[in-house]
Amino acid sequence: MDCIFCDIIGKKESAEILYENDRVISFLDIRPVNYGHTLVIPKTHYENFLSVPPEEMEALILATQKLSNAIVKSLIPDGFNIVVNNGIAAGQSIFHFHFHIIPRFKSDDFKFRPNLKSYDDGTMKNFAEKIRLAVTT
Ligand code: AMP
Ligand code: ZN
Repeated sequence: MDCIFCDIIGKKESAEILYENDRVISFLDIRPVNYGHTLVIPKTHYENFLSVPPEEMEALILATQKLSNAIVKSLIPDGFNIVVNNGIAAGQSIFHFHFHIIPRFKSDDFKFRPNLKSYDDGTMKNFAEKIRLAVTT
């Protein structure tokens, strides 16, 4: 299987590695939204958010918090986003799970301004019921 992130883990591909432990590795995104844009990935190949087992997710979220702290301390952004894209429709281009940490500045031109919908009468309840049922089954 061809995976550029597995190649980075295997040191076959170079990257600006920021941190690693036995489960997780973190490096700079090569095409940053803002400088310092960081990726945090599992050392085992999982395709997306849903395929990562719980104990791996715990290691990933803790590393993402650690790296976020380092970014805030070192780059002093005005804020930061943690983003996960799942599936082509959501903008995923590398199918090896990763958290993005994107440092944000008041003056940056990164915009995520969706056209927010409103629920028609009664439909909010229907959506909630569908999801609640799926949570418990
Ligand atoms: P996504 O679109 O959520 O799948 O994000 C994939 C990210 O990986 C993009 O932001 C790319 O810029 C980044 N990327 C792709 N190849 C490399 C690489 N060789 N080193 C670092 N980042 C990469
Ligand atoms: Zn991979």
